Amino acid sequence: MKENLNPFAIAQAQFDEAAEVLQLDHDMRAFLREPMREFHFTIPVRMDDGTTRTFQGFRVQYNDARGPAKGGIRFHPDETIDTVRALAAWMTWKTAVSDIPLGGGKGGVICNPREMSQEELERLSRGYMRNIARYVGLTQDVPAPDVNTNPRIMAWMLDEYETINGKREPGVITGKPLELGGSAGRTPATAMGGLFTIREAAKLKGMNLNGATAAIQGFGNVGSFTHSLGQKQFGLKIVAISDEFGGIYNANGIDFDVAAAHQRQTGKLMNCPGTENITNQELLELEVDILIPAAIENQLTSQNAGNVKAKIVAELANGPTTPEADNILNDKGIYIIPDFLCNAGGVIVSYFEMVQNGYQYYWDEAMVHERLDKKITTAFHAVNQMSEAKQVDTRVAAYLVAVNRVAEAVRLRGWV
Ligand code: GLU
Repeated sequence: MKENLNPFAIAQAQFDEAAEVLQLDHDMRAFLREPMREFHFTIPVRMDDGTTRTFQGFRVQYNDARGPAKGGIRFHPDETIDTVRALAAWMTWKTAVSDIPLGGGKGGVICNPREMSQEELERLSRGYMRNIARYVGLTQDVPAPDVNTNPRIMAWMLDEYETINGKREPGVITGKPLELGGSAGRTPATAMGGLFTIREAAKLKGMNLNGATAAIQGFGNVGSFTHSLGQKQFGLKIVAISDEFGGIYNANGIDFDVAAAHQRQTGKLMNCPGTENITNQELLELEVDILIPAAIENQLTSQNAGNVKAKIVAELANGPTTPEADNILNDKGIYIIPDFLCNAGGVIVSYFEMVQNGYQYYWDEAMVHERLDKKITTAFHAVNQMSEAKQVDTRVAAYLVAVNRVAEAVRLRGWV
């Protein structure tokens, strides 16, 4: 049978498995496996050539029992409502497993930012916010960056929101530029958090991180910071990295500064001096200690999971592993750090950003990273202990911790 790659079908299947282990009652299951609220809208944008193009936008507030919905906005040509639903569900479990007082949401626009000018992107970003302004806010739903969105786009959205409402409310969106109330350490936070979880998993596996080999798929915000911080602060030897065009390999390690300079100059990693070109598929199957998918969904599937040779798979992307691949990797004894735990660093520091905005008092980067380390390391061990106590794999364990917390909030509110 062909693998079902619909991300929301996958998110629901993962939830169902956890609900079964938890013996969650029927009514709670029915409630938690669907989004509470979603918005679909059109965004007309005046293009530079004078024509108007209509874009399709979404915002899903999956669950806000534990606090306002929280999650990024993606700009992607292949965006679908089911992808946004899945990502919003994963945000719900992510904030719960991290034990921060927020719910889960996600947004998306079907568009190709590579083909748009900065002015067109600004009009699209402001148009997106005009559509959702009445549904987001400090106490309702707080967006952030995700695939193809960045602090600059957050600044335009913040300005649009504040202009509509006639007051300054920086905490309404996170991942902002520092000048507008962003947090120190937010941009590298997802990578940093992931590296803290890798450090803990390596301890469990008796692996020395200094000199351990790693392959990273993806060279966006998360992949590139994982390369640079992994190499400079954790002593990892990054032997392969890739972007959407393909990857590069050097058994002796790829220096981040060289690769980043080449990528800046040519727009691609391929043909970087001192490396050989490899495909994204080859990267996933390399003989390395740690494999780090840091790109998009459905990269490890039933087709290639059997060929993965890493000892640890650290899922810095959202949804990189299908349920079939998950079973194969677990059977091989590979330690998986599941996505909504591994990549929770971004939203944890987003939460710190909201706290700092509330007090108008800002922490330095060292303080942010120290507090991030404490939060994500606690979450890692809660999941690992659950996995050992219930004899389930780490992804199911992460669901057990998270779903328990959300279900409890739902019960306390008397919803189910
Ligand atoms: N987009 C990031 C994620 O998937 C961060 C979300 C946030 O900071 O709200 O976790």
